[in-house]
Amino acid sequence: MAEVQATTTMEKIVSLAKRRGFIFQSSEIYGGINSCWDYGPLGVELKNNVKQAWRRKVIQERDDMVGIDAAILMHPKVWEASGHVAGFSDPMVDCKSCKQRFRADHLEGDKCPACGGELTEARQFNLMFKTHMGPVEDNAAVVYLRPETAQGIFVNFNNVLTTTRMKLPFGIAQVGKSFRNEITPGNFTFRTREFEQMEIEYFVKPGTDEQIHQEWLKQRFQWYLNLGLTKERLRLREHEKDELAHYAKACYDIEYFFPMGWSELEGIANRTDFDLTQHSKFSGQRMDYFDQEANEHFIPYVIEPSAGADRGTLAFLLDAYHEEPDKDEIRVVLKLHRALAPYKVAILPLSKKEPLLEIAGGIEKELRKYWMVDYDDSKAIGRRYRRQDEIGTPYCVTIDFQTVEDKAVTVRDRDTMEQERIPIADLSRYLMDKLAW
Ligand code: ATP
Repeated sequence: MAEVQATTTMEKIVSLAKRRGFIFQSSEIYGGINSCWDYGPLGVELKNNVKQAWRRKVIQERDDMVGIDAAILMHPKVWEASGHVAGFSDPMVDCKSCKQRFRADHLEGDKCPACGGELTEARQFNLMFKTHMGPVEDNAAVVYLRPETAQGIFVNFNNVLTTTRMKLPFGIAQVGKSFRNEITPGNFTFRTREFEQMEIEYFVKPGTDEQIHQEWLKQRFQWYLNLGLTKERLRLREHEKDELAHYAKACYDIEYFFPMGWSELEGIANRTDFDLTQHSKFSGQRMDYFDQEANEHFIPYVIEPSAGADRGTLAFLLDAYHEEPDKDEIRVVLKLHRALAPYKVAILPLSKKEPLLEIAGGIEKELRKYWMVDYDDSKAIGRRYRRQDEIGTPYCVTIDFQTVEDKAVTVRDRDTMEQERIPIADLSRYLMDKLAW
């Protein structure tokens, strides 16, 4: 088998992301803050499109799924019940010489990777961020920033059940911020301390869990393929028994071949009835399901596909990156799926003079009703095409002097660079067909 290769280096993506306004370092004017990133004008569109594509697939296109948006701050008992207070920790070691800290399970060998110094014994470090609710900083007021969105779903199980009258199997999906005080964040937005998750809890009747788990694995894998990730850079890895959380029956990771190697994009676990049982115990509330046909109460099992919006966005950016020879130069093109591209169309009048400007303005106004559109009337047309290629805009619409005569424009395709003459009156419909997915 040919060896898998990353499309490009992380440095090139970091530099493109900053130069073109996808991702900036947080608080950059103050020297930045470790592992925090801000999405710029293009990045926010790209990440929103990733989240939107996820919501469409897992909520809109299904009749057995609904969404929620729970608060980030939750009752502290939630994290006792879920096991996070006692056990959400990673093993940490310190270097006795340079004082740097590392995650013990990420190290090869027993020496400091930075200076070769001796390391301390590993000790458990809880990853939850703690803060205080209200003006009093005592222990009674301690709350946590949620380290996953999943628990917001479990605690709303009864609410969703009674308000929607969903029947098993059904699922609840949520997108939102999570926070983990990671020991060693890094690799750009791959591992950060504040990040966004896209999580599903899919409740099933015990006994049907294994088959439904397999179905979710297939569906979630296919989602990444459909949105353009290269098959060779995507794989499914089953967790070894010793990797599994004590309550999990099975878990798989969808992994992508990032520049630093194979790394997790999404985890898909069979969590059994662990979470609902725990919340039932800690809250004193029943958290079960009444199966009318069988006339029995039981606590459902749950399949949890848990993805990272930032990791997904990073993988889509990396995989889209292409450098192609173009005469004596190199054309950099982001071959982002049309669903994900920040701008769908760029409008490029060939001259800054009337009547071209007025025609271009009219087209811009019309297309902005449907899509994020860029407008650029500066510099040579070749340069403008390159700029759009570099940010992944699928179509460029050029308005030239001929347009005044024939009321038609040239539409250029990013990937094939082919050009087609389309009447202005048909343009929206033409692009709608092209951009549908
Ligand atoms: P890892 O082993 O990489 O620390 P994990 O197995 O703890 O990850 P999960 O708890 O399964 O991760 O979280 C589900 C998803 O949330 C991950 O697949 C990833 O996409 C995303 N995620 C988790 N932690 C981070 C982080 N620190 N930064 C960015 N995304 C994250």
